[in-house]
Amino acid sequence: VELETVLRAGGSRVTRPRQVVWNVLSTADRHLNAHEITERVQTVDQGINMSSVYRTLALFADLELVRESHLENDATTWEIAHGDEVIHLRCDTCGDVRHHDAAVIKTLRKQLPASAGFHPVNIDVRVKGTCDACFDRHRAAHV
Ligand SMILES: [Zn+2]
Ligand SMILES: [Zn+2]
Repeated sequence: VELETVLRAGGSRVTRPRQVVWNVLSTADRHLNAHEITERVQTVDQGINMSSVYRTLALFADLELVRESHLENDATTWEIAHGDEVIHLRCDTCGDVRHHDAAVIKTLRKQLPASAGFHPVNIDVRVKGTCDACFDRHRAAHV
């Protein structure tokens, strides 16, 4: 996604905070909450405060550039938008969050209007459980 193109199309300009927040999200190794985003933003530019980060995230969300997910303890985390055919798998033990391509979401989206009389806009699937590494560790500890 080209930030400038999307912002222009939405009638907005590229500002310093927008560019920096975008860079932080684009290079993030995981889902970040607003506090973590602000910390990373401030390592680049101390002049950008948290309310500026919040405003930027709200704008990006409006333009569907970023995606907001409630993954743990209901803290809102942010990441570059990905389609809702990608679901989140969260490990209860180590807190790791993975993406998984789930074709079933596409099927669900197609079927819901007929089967449930419902027209989905956004499907957000989170699966809680245990990742392979934690599963094996747990099993090893109990033999
Ligand atoms: Zn784990
Ligand atoms: Zn995600």
